[in-house]
Amino acid sequence: MSENDRLIIALSKGRIFKETLPLLNHAGIELVDDPDASRKLILDTNHADVKVLILRATDVPTYVQYGAADVGVAGKDVLMEHGGEGLYEPVDLKIARCKLMTAGRQGEQDVRPAQRLRVATKFVNSTRRFYASRGEQVEIIKLYGSMELAPLVGLADRIVDVVDTGNTLRANGLEPFEHIADISSRLIVNKAAMKMKHARVKALIDQISEAVG
Ligand code: AMP
Repeated sequence: MSENDRLIIALSKGRIFKETLPLLNHAGIELVDDPDASRKLILDTNHADVKVLILRATDVPTYVQYGAADVGVAGKDVLMEHGGEGLYEPVDLKIARCKLMTAGRQGEQDVRPAQRLRVATKFVNSTRRFYASRGEQVEIIKLYGSMELAPLVGLADRIVDVVDTGNTLRANGLEPFEHIADISSRLIVNKAAMKMKHARVKALIDQISEAVG
């Protein structure tokens, strides 16, 4: 089998994985391995020449950008941080929908600190762009998780995070303030693979688009 006959698909575990499987099934791709039961990071499918990589969500665009995977599924939040270099984003899969928002302690939307607003987030680039677009200079504090804690212990005045029901914010005495972007997962394609494996990638895009409706 030549490299060009192979199709490598990059996915992350969890919500995106579960919601992507039916779309792949519609395209005739079934997983042979169960990622929850296996520690394998390269999963076999019912096609000898189609493999699935299991990655951290934030690494999916990087694998696809460099061509280690031909296609992948990544949240728009992750793509906005990555920048989208080397990628096409042909299909909005309309799954794992949520919103990227600023949030803070309940009732404090109009409270401004004397110094610069401190904003804790793992979405550093999107946060910088959002506040810059409003002409506001803020201090961004990079975190890797549990952002909700930051305003409660005085680390930050605001957080920027993805919000679905808002229950996690409310459970921590926070509320969403400003809407930054609507988020959903996207099918992404390596730019070179789109050319070199065109028939194969195009067929996958068409079948997945059909499944999305
Ligand atoms: P919520 O329903 O707002 O309480 O969200 C529950 C948790 O899941 C929060 O920590 C959110 O940051 C996170 N979350 C919600 N929707 C998504 C999504 N589509 N992708 C990734 N994380 C999400």
